[in-house]
Amino acid sequence: MSLNNRHPEEPYWWRDSPPAVMAQQEVQPNCDVVIVGAGYTGLTSALILATAGCSVQVFDSANPGYGASTRNGGITSGNLRLNATAALKQLGETRAKAVFAESVNARTYLRNLIEEHNIDCDYQLTGRFTGAMTHRDLESMARESEVFARLSGIEPAVIKQAELSNYVGSETYVGGIYREDIGHLHPAKFHAGLLKAVMQRGGVVHANTPITKIIQTTDTKRLLHKSQTVTLRSSRGDVSAAHVLIATNGYSGSFNPWINRRIVPVRSRIVVTEKLSRNLISTLIPGLRAMGENRNLYRYYRPTPDGERLLFGSREPAFYRSHAQAVEHVRQGMAGVFPELKDVAVSSSWAGNVAFSRSHLPLLFNHEGIYYAMGYCGSGTVWAPWFGRKVAESILDEINGPGIERKKAGMSSNAPKIQSALAGQPPAAVPFYRGNPWFLPAAILWNGLQDKRHGRLDKA
Ligand SMILES: Cc1cc2nc3c(=O)[nH]c(=O)nc-3n(C[C@H](O)[C@H](O)[C@H](O)COP(=O)(O)OP(=O)(O)OC[C@H]3O[C@@H](n4cnc5c(N)ncnc54)[C@H](O)[C@@H]3O)c2cc1C
Repeated sequence: MSLNNRHPEEPYWWRDSPPAVMAQQEVQPNCDVVIVGAGYTGLTSALILATAGCSVQVFDSANPGYGASTRNGGITSGNLRLNATAALKQLGETRAKAVFAESVNARTYLRNLIEEHNIDCDYQLTGRFTGAMTHRDLESMARESEVFARLSGIEPAVIKQAELSNYVGSETYVGGIYREDIGHLHPAKFHAGLLKAVMQRGGVVHANTPITKIIQTTDTKRLLHKSQTVTLRSSRGDVSAAHVLIATNGYSGSFNPWINRRIVPVRSRIVVTEKLSRNLISTLIPGLRAMGENRNLYRYYRPTPDGERLLFGSREPAFYRSHAQAVEHVRQGMAGVFPELKDVAVSSSWAGNVAFSRSHLPLLFNHEGIYYAMGYCGSGTVWAPWFGRKVAESILDEINGPGIERKKAGMSSNAPKIQSALAGQPPAAVPFYRGNPWFLPAAILWNGLQDKRHGRLDKA
């Protein structure tokens, strides 16, 4: 039975925190920093830079927050798509340890950012349970946890079947992994708090003003001082700045064909149930925690902040003819985990773009004088503010710190050093790809088959 009651294709989060309606300000032709994209990445960078006294203009092609930052599940995992074992293999012990240490710092930074700016966003450090659907998966998750603990210093608890009812009210799992350092927040309220803080500090945010082109990068040399200016075209005039951050993540569109070949948008869909009894919610999700699964086609869920509804998210199906069909696919996934919800209606559903990089690691780099921070592979609630901060610090370093000393000494100003274990060279392009992810339906089908082959099936 399909229970897609009529509901707007719009995030549940916008009920409490609708997208900001902004008065339009004139685009200033020059400023210190231009930021493209007013999600968590762009706004956190703008906040730090405006606080430090820089003139900052942030451009968004839609209302700020229209992208993933007001559409996400709000789970503050700060995870990497690569698991610890794969990260160790790909990065080596020293860099992998530095990356995992940074994920710990990034989670702490998110908490501090919320506290420092008094952002009322229902942040709760609830812990997160990740369910295993087979005994074989549980064993490999337990082994993986040991590597993770060695790299991160965080010891996940391995939950056996006998203790399962303390973590989840579902027959789908045979056990799982529990981590205390993860929680959830209200994503749109968090975004609104960042936006307010940026504007209070004099940052200018231009809504509905897409950047349509990167026009040119000009190198100028004044005395010993070598500097660079980047000019961008917006729909309301050109703008030049010495420092530019592109923070468009899964919504990068077509203005920058170079980045389009390096970032793959993948759609994720969320459904939120009608109001349920709080007792039912706390039976299904004891402790009202953040929840996830060990599957190739990842599914995640949590209670809404009032504890009255269940939010459930997963990849959109490989093929679907209508939104209603895509909603039903996710709703049936939810009913597979919780048969109690099989007759429960959906009160909101929406989709959004998650951005993947080829390496499955978040991307943080400077290319031809422009900073890029994106590709969080579905874990940007923690990583995006952190990368926004890292870029802001690097820009401040260029303006005030060692960067300026390098320039005064006549040394090349390109390749500023971003202080992050995840910062690196610009990534290689994805082969045979120019921004249209034609291969995704096949990838989704293949991953679904892998899940079936490994017995990762709902019991209902
Ligand atoms: C359905 C869904 C569920 C998710 N769940 C979670 C979760 O539970 N936990 C988690 O950690 N992460 C989650 N994520 C990922 C997380 O939301 C993102 O990683 C994060 O919000 C990225 O922030 P951002 O600022 O980099 O990008 P975005 O918030 O996407 O912002 C990019 C902005 O760039 C603007 N833009 C694009 N092109 C231009 C242009 N040419 N000119 C001007 N502006 C432009 C867009 O309009 C957009 O507002 C989820 C994502 C989705 C879609």
